[in-house]
Amino acid sequence: MGAGITAATAFTTVVPEVFAPAEAVADETLSYDAIVIGAGYAGITAARDLRLKGLRVLILEARDRIGGRTWTTTLAGHQIEMGGTWVESTQPHVAAELKRYGIALVADQDPERTFFPTPSGPAQFSPTEGFGLLGNSYERIFEGSKQYFERPFEPLYRADLLKDLDKLSLRDRLNQMKLTAAQELMVNGQTSVYSGGSSASGALTMLAQWWALSGWNNDGWNETTKYRMTTGTVGLLNAMLNETKPTVRLNSPVSQVAQTKTGYHVTTRAGASFDAPALVIAVPVNVWQTIKFSPALPAAQTAATSQGIGVKTGTKLWIHASSPQGRFYAQGAENGSPISMLLPDKPTPQGNLYIAFSTNPTFNPDDKVQVANAVKQLGADMQIFDIKAQRWGSDEFSRGGWAFRKPGQLTGLYPDVQAPKGRLAFASGDIANGWSGYIDGAIESGARAAKDVLLQI
Ligand SMILES: Cc1cc2nc3c(=O)[nH]c(=O)nc-3n(C[C@H](O)[C@H](O)[C@H](O)COP(=O)(O)OP(=O)(O)OC[C@H]3O[C@@H](n4cnc5c(N)ncnc54)[C@H](O)[C@@H]3O)c2cc1C
Repeated sequence: MGAGITAATAFTTVVPEVFAPAEAVADETLSYDAIVIGAGYAGITAARDLRLKGLRVLILEARDRIGGRTWTTTLAGHQIEMGGTWVESTQPHVAAELKRYGIALVADQDPERTFFPTPSGPAQFSPTEGFGLLGNSYERIFEGSKQYFERPFEPLYRADLLKDLDKLSLRDRLNQMKLTAAQELMVNGQTSVYSGGSSASGALTMLAQWWALSGWNNDGWNETTKYRMTTGTVGLLNAMLNETKPTVRLNSPVSQVAQTKTGYHVTTRAGASFDAPALVIAVPVNVWQTIKFSPALPAAQTAATSQGIGVKTGTKLWIHASSPQGRFYAQGAENGSPISMLLPDKPTPQGNLYIAFSTNPTFNPDDKVQVANAVKQLGADMQIFDIKAQRWGSDEFSRGGWAFRKPGQLTGLYPDVQAPKGRLAFASGDIANGWSGYIDGAIESGARAAKDVLLQI
């Protein structure tokens, strides 16, 4: 994990600026050159790029805020992120945007100690030892990934090697390796949480691609949970909107999309309708199935949304607490721990802010007693002052958290799942080529969707 932090005062609360009133217009149909459904990173990137080519663009967003699965808010007066957070300068699409808008990164604090499960219960390790042991297992799990992900940003470049490999779950791979009980416990908290609760649900090729994108090594992998934007994730989104000022309508969940002779007719739940010759669908893949498309979505998109890509159990919580163990990282075991991963964020006058992830559907992340007990199970103690949690799986406008492909989805869905149908394009961090499941992937996908549309008009 990362190097020392700079001042916590670098964080300020950012209020999103939006350029249109949020009320519905039930009786009139408004026309644009392009409509983008969804104001997350993918949608706002697509809208910005289409505006740069002079198109009149409308963004329809279901929530009362922009950002989607990124959400900058506050806890105990500090800026926090309820969804996507960490980015790095080696992520090419993020890096280009940070440079374009002059946004700096700040490093999170290093933990002072780590807790990992062992056969005799949770044990304390120095960060170097704990992350080193985890990294040793990862190096073995991802052996061969330099070959099968020779070009990590072109995931199917070695489709020949991936044909059988993509069928493997992370559980299959862990079993193949015949790990000792101690080795298994060091790693399965991570493989299961990324997979949405069970290592049997997540594809080996998903985590292996992230490993490859991180430079095929443990230091690179640990860098992926280190840096965040000083402006908060909403700061970059506001900069993109400010540059080109598309029209944004919040509180406008889209219920229907119909193809017409001249383009697309889009209707919101409130009955407002809008027309445009081109359309970008930038809602999460898991949400596609809640919109009535006529004609129906193509086969790959239909399969993707019914299978789901965003993990259905993904919950993130922020904990403001004091702990005798100070600034610690803790990891749980698969099937045993309500909290799978806990990372220190920044100090406060009373203690620290911590970030935790859970995929346990019976765990109540808003209940201080349950959270304190879950932390105890990891080997540490906390006096909790406050918690803020977001269950992304039960959020109707995401229906899942971070993207994590299931076995077979890379070779079964790609590249068709990304393909436009005429002037209907698909943008989502869930189906990126490179950093799928990350902000970088959402930007990549939004930029590609804008290009797809521009080629057709
Ligand atoms: C807990 C968590 C932690 C994560 N951590 C990281 C991280 O540290 N680093 C990183 O890079 N990535 C991280 N990610 C992933 C990252 O947040 C996503 O990949 C990225 O934000 C996805 O962007 P998107 O635009 O594709 O989708 P979304 O952000 O989901 O945007 C889709 C938008 O569509 C809207 N919408 C949905 N339905 C409708 C409808 N019917 N009509 C109109 N609008 C609709 C939604 O409200 C939303 O605003 C994390 C995600 C989660 C959930």
